[in-house]
Amino acid sequence: MSVAGQCADPDCDDIVDVAANLTAIKAEIAAALAEAGRPAAPIAITAVSKQHGAARILQALKAGHRAFGENRVQEAMQKWPALRETYQDVELHLIGPLQTNKVKDAVAFFDAIETLDRPKLAAALAREIDKQGRAPRLFTQVNTGEEAQKAGVSPDRADSFIADCIELGLQIDGLMCIPPAEDDPAPHFALLAKIAARNGLEHLSMGMSGDYALAAQLGATHLRIGSGLFGPRPSPTP
Ligand SMILES: *Cc1c(COP(=O)(O)O)cnc(C)c1O
Repeated sequence: MSVAGQCADPDCDDIVDVAANLTAIKAEIAAALAEAGRPAAPIAITAVSKQHGAARILQALKAGHRAFGENRVQEAMQKWPALRETYQDVELHLIGPLQTNKVKDAVAFFDAIETLDRPKLAAALAREIDKQGRAPRLFTQVNTGEEAQKAGVSPDRADSFIADCIELGLQIDGLMCIPPAEDDPAPHFALLAKIAARNGLEHLSMGMSGDYALAAQLGATHLRIGSGLFGPRPSPTP
């Protein structure tokens, strides 16, 4: 783990050095890939900035980082327009559940949507992408742990769901998963990679602050890292 700040007060930005955390995380990923004998392929880090304010986010932007993840459409639409005025090449990923009544905003606002997980949402996205002529990159979320409370298509329905999405005209970039907190994440990452391979999908969004090195070793192309970069979030994620 990299060094993360211990202060949950949004005012103590001084004790979280986001740039240093980013450098340490990148070095750890490179070491993990070398250890696994994998090519040092570039792995995208999505800096998960949910619940963090502009000051903390600016540390990452000033360090040259451009890809960020938010889990709520509304929160992102409040925070990011001002930041995007200065940093126009920012790439925003939606990593939280998407309700169909927010699809219009999500398609207009995000560069990637990682939580495509049900037919109704697929249909709404297809309609809206067509209407706006703007297509965010799409990841299908797979509920690898088959947890009742968690979003994502179940692993045994993933193939047919992906086929249905393609039938609707959607281009699926890859898969995303959030393993059960109490499980060893390795089998979940391996399962996600297997489903992606048999569906010809290249990208895997898997690995968070606690397990990004392992995810990189198991083929992640996108890591979603929040607390390891920005320190603890001001309040628990609902
Ligand atoms: C919050 C969140 C993350 C980041 O979690 P950390 O443990 O802080 O790195 C990653 N993915 C999703 C979907 C999240 O909601």
